[in-house]
Amino acid sequence: MRIVVLAGGIGGARFLRGLKRAVTDIDGTDITVIGNTGDDIHLFGLKVCPDLDTVMYTLGGGIDEERGWGRTDETFRVKEELAAYGAGPGWFGLGDRDFATHIVRTQMLAAGYPLSAVTEALCDRWQPGVRLLPMSDDRIETHVAITVPDGEEGAGERRAVHFQEFWVRLRAAVPAHAVVPVGADQAKPAPGVLEAIAAADVILFPPSNPVVSIGTILAVPGVREAIAEAGVPVVGLSPIVGGAPVRGMADKVLAAVGVESSAAAVAEHYGSGLLDGWLVDTADADAVDRVEQAGIRCRAVPLMMSDPDAAAEMARRALALAEEVRA
Ligand code: GDP
Ligand code: CA
Repeated sequence: MRIVVLAGGIGGARFLRGLKRAVTDIDGTDITVIGNTGDDIHLFGLKVCPDLDTVMYTLGGGIDEERGWGRTDETFRVKEELAAYGAGPGWFGLGDRDFATHIVRTQMLAAGYPLSAVTEALCDRWQPGVRLLPMSDDRIETHVAITVPDGEEGAGERRAVHFQEFWVRLRAAVPAHAVVPVGADQAKPAPGVLEAIAAADVILFPPSNPVVSIGTILAVPGVREAIAEAGVPVVGLSPIVGGAPVRGMADKVLAAVGVESSAAAVAEHYGSGLLDGWLVDTADADAVDRVEQAGIRCRAVPLMMSDPDAAAEMARRALALAEEVRA
């Protein structure tokens, strides 16, 4: 069975760890991950790909479990030294061990390798057990239109900032008016992306951010269409449980695109043109009818990835729903 998964960072990575566990007994299963690169940022002359790295480190056993991003046993000496020079930004966490990944990546990009080849090379070390493809080799950066908060230069004015500035520095605590994947309209899917979708037996949307993770991948021209036309079950899992994101501030970017923070609204946002099945948490069992009325098969199951076994059970339920809609 060929499984294609669209993934952001932590929600995608933890689900993928469960999925790998869930399919260990199924012979001939391979997993291709199409990773979000809209969160990528250039810092200190280095190209940083937070979502690709979160997937790679999580599946490769190098992730800091508690934080959910970055490396285990991390130190932040380089960051301290940079700060001592007044070299910012200080709000983005880059650990010493993590720096090595960004240095190798940047070196390879400068030597002319596309991001997809670089990612493959980095995965040679991490052996994530999936084929990890960036959504595109072209530069795409998500920007968020905000109102500049009080106490900052230009307070009250509208300005577009990089997604990481909105998310990490401002903690999504300022009004967001629009989310724009800058560069997406000119971008091409990375080699292998459309081919993997066309060859898939099932396509899964993990509980990743619907706007700035999965939404950005779907914004790469051709990807949404390829999924809609693949003719195989497409099943998603809600990142919203009980009306709020399980982690992070997805509600803020959902509001920016006019979608209410509920498991049902996110399913409707993807729509029946894309989704065949949708899992909501048992806390949202009353959303099942509304989702089914939108033409999407829906089940309520536990959706908290408290440990890899819980994530594996979610993956089994997603694959079971895929078989149900296929039948
Ligand atoms: P990011 O790039 O690190 O923000 O990661 P993703 O986009 O892959 O995932 C973020 C989303 O994962 C958030 O909207 C969370 O609500 C969701 N999430 C995190 N942990 C869980 C969980 O245990 N269960 C569910 N259902 N969603 C989760
Ligand atoms: Ca992300």
